[in-house]
Amino acid sequence: MPLGGVSAYVLLRGREAAVVDTGTSDSNAAIADGLGMLGTSWADVRHIVLTHRHRDHVGGLSDLLAEVSGATVYAGEADLDRVQSSAELTAVGDGDEVLGMGVINTPGHTSGSISLFDVETGILVAGDALNGDDGQLTGADPRYSSDLEVAQESVAKLAALEPTIAAFGHGGPPIDTDVSAQLAALAAS
Ligand SMILES: [Zn+2]
Repeated sequence: MPLGGVSAYVLLRGREAAVVDTGTSDSNAAIADGLGMLGTSWADVRHIVLTHRHRDHVGGLSDLLAEVSGATVYAGEADLDRVQSSAELTAVGDGDEVLGMGVINTPGHTSGSISLFDVETGILVAGDALNGDDGQLTGADPRYSSDLEVAQESVAKLAALEPTIAAFGHGGPPIDTDVSAQLAALAAS
């Protein structure tokens, strides 16, 4: 769902849904639209994943929790204490799974940035570890990232997964063309 400059995602597996990122605030109508498009609703949302601590990704959390109080809220360990949440936060990182997707630590944009990757479908949700526009993937935005060298290592880590679809926080809809090749080129640049 485009939320005015930032995207949030709804992922569905069976009857279980996850919302990834929450926009700045009051994003519930757009997220409800996204759930509706997949034929699901608030009642099926079991997971809320915060890819990192920036306000444009976590600002809508309190509104969201008013609708889905039963969901587990996840964030990367290093970003955890910078996220305001009325719900308990669960730290996740390399080796953990949410909705059957692997959690990948992808620091650099923030120290606790995480991505989600589904081995079966090749879907990668990268938060702000990647950006994209017009089918073209780029790395973390130098203007807003805390450590570009580490961010570049995270791009290489994502390239090694060889994803087929890449979704990200800013710049447009997910990219599904030459994603692996683009990431490999980015990692080598
Ligand atoms: Zn960010």
